[in-house]
Amino acid sequence: MSVPEGTPEFAKEVAGCAPQYVQNIGKILYTRAMIEEKVAELGATLSHEYKDKDGIVLVGLLKGVTPFMVDLARTLSVPVQLEFMGVKSYDGTESTGDVRILYDVQTDLEGKNVILIDDICDTGHTLVAVKQRLIEKNPASLRTCVLFDKKERRVHDDVQCDFVGFDCPNEFIVGYGLDFDEEYRTLPFVGVLKPSAYR
Ligand code: 5GP
Ligand code: MG
Repeated sequence: MSVPEGTPEFAKEVAGCAPQYVQNIGKILYTRAMIEEKVAELGATLSHEYKDKDGIVLVGLLKGVTPFMVDLARTLSVPVQLEFMGVKSYDGTESTGDVRILYDVQTDLEGKNVILIDDICDTGHTLVAVKQRLIEKNPASLRTCVLFDKKERRVHDDVQCDFVGFDCPNEFIVGYGLDFDEEYRTLPFVGVLKPSAYR
């Protein structure tokens, strides 16, 4: 299901958004309501899974994870600490496979129940590299959670995401944290750019 440009639902969804962004969106794949419902569902699952633990540490990957992380954290009924890491693997729309850590967590994760959170798992390079770094910090447990999973693009067989919001088609998506060259992150829905937007 997607919401193409020119339909009343599209107009309703993009209301209040920057026209400079809206004019480049060809279709919407995940509406505000779909995202909100899915995030609440993930939050309920995590709250249940960790209800007998002292608490959890969410480690989110900047910057794409920010809206998802904040919205998810607010649905949780267990104690939660928020940590972030800054990593870079993408140049434009291409995954480079070379994952650099630009900013690391600022707290001791030893003995903690950690959930690594990202906006999307694509090739899997990022999660494999970051998981490796987090394991070295000796957490009591380490699981992964992504809002979008682009399974078709996976190059690492050993990456499984423990908690997944949506299985996502093999398209380059923007909005709700996801950018194209740092733009579009603030859109409250997730959509696909028109080919003209890349020129
Ligand atoms: P991976 O290392 O799994 O190939 O890629 C993960 C990172 O690439 C994500 O954190 C995200 O920043 C970026 N990425 C992957 N697919 C997309 C996409 O469809 N749209 C955008 N905007 N970023 C993506
Ligand atoms: Mg990212």
